[in-house]
Amino acid sequence: MSKYEVIIIGGGPAGLTAGLYTSRAGLKSLLIERGIFGGQIVNARQVDNYPGFPEGISGFELASLMHEQAIKYGLETINATVTAIKPGGNYSVITAEGNFEAEAVIIAAGSEYRKLEVPGEEELLGRGVSYCATCDGFLFRDLDVAVVGGGDTAITDALELSEHASKVYIVHRRDQLRAGQILKNKALAQPKLEPVWNTVVEEIIGDNKVSGLSLRNVKTGKITKLEVAGVFVAVGFEPNSQCFADIVELDETGLIKTDELMATSAPGIFAVGDIRKNSPRQVAGAVGDGATAALSAFKYLRERS
Ligand SMILES: Cc1cc2nc3c(=O)[nH]c(=O)nc-3n(C[C@H](O)[C@H](O)[C@H](O)COP(=O)(O)OP(=O)(O)OC[C@H]3O[C@@H](n4cnc5c(N)ncnc54)[C@H](O)[C@@H]3O)c2cc1C
Repeated sequence: MSKYEVIIIGGGPAGLTAGLYTSRAGLKSLLIERGIFGGQIVNARQVDNYPGFPEGISGFELASLMHEQAIKYGLETINATVTAIKPGGNYSVITAEGNFEAEAVIIAAGSEYRKLEVPGEEELLGRGVSYCATCDGFLFRDLDVAVVGGGDTAITDALELSEHASKVYIVHRRDQLRAGQILKNKALAQPKLEPVWNTVVEEIIGDNKVSGLSLRNVKTGKITKLEVAGVFVAVGFEPNSQCFADIVELDETGLIKTDELMATSAPGIFAVGDIRKNSPRQVAGAVGDGATAALSAFKYLRERS
């Protein structure tokens, strides 16, 4: 079994930054990624809120630059899916392609937005379809938009969007919001927000950019069209944490609990980026976590030896 001082699971912005820092610190480091190096941000047509790029940068290019920079300093990377971390003197990181031994592990496996799975959603991603109000809300100044969902995230997004948009429809399949009472009160007091009850999205309409939604009332079956320039899907997300549930403590939604130094409940295992509880779910936050965890891992290894 190949042995490393640090193994990083996940090659998004958080994992690549952790790998950059551990490699530059001289730690023998391996990053294991199951898909495309760069993580979710490769799907962003344009990233305008990552510092250092005043004209914005495509998510793919940003991710490629992060990958290039990390391997330049000696980070080893492989494509494999991690299925478990086993305890012992050192940790064993289990993959279908073989197992690896690590003194410290940084989990950077991210999370995935739940999709509506309707026509137009994939085709119009980044052209009016978004999963992130903080990332894209600014693009809809004085335009009408819709948020799909009725929980805390949907209402937080709707309130954030009301700072920019002229009107924010909240399309929800029930006849009341699931969000907490304080958020509900705020939403109902904001005149720009208009709930569309008992309704689901059948299709996102648009030729190259979103122009509207085809909606179905779940009680009457009636189909209507809502004209909007943007649709924010806020129906939840799934942390990629199932295979770590035996080794680190998760919260009730599956996010990994950490302290401010990114330490989890297991000594020598750190968690960073979108997979950890209280993450801002932004690239800038993910890279900050990656740097913090790398420094914590360095300290942990020095104290251990
Ligand atoms: C369409 C879109 C647009 C966005 N736009 C912006 C924006 O403009 N600005 C902004 O700040 N943020 C934006 N975000 C959010 C941003 O992409 C995330 O906050 C960021 O990528 C989180 O980084 P991460 O490294 O924590 O996780 P991720 O980027 O999710 O990376 C995790 C990686 O781990 C891998 N992985 C998961 N499980 C395993 C396993 N078991 N074994 C091996 N590998 C595994 C995954 O394949 C993935 O590559 C956007 C997201 C999306 C989807």
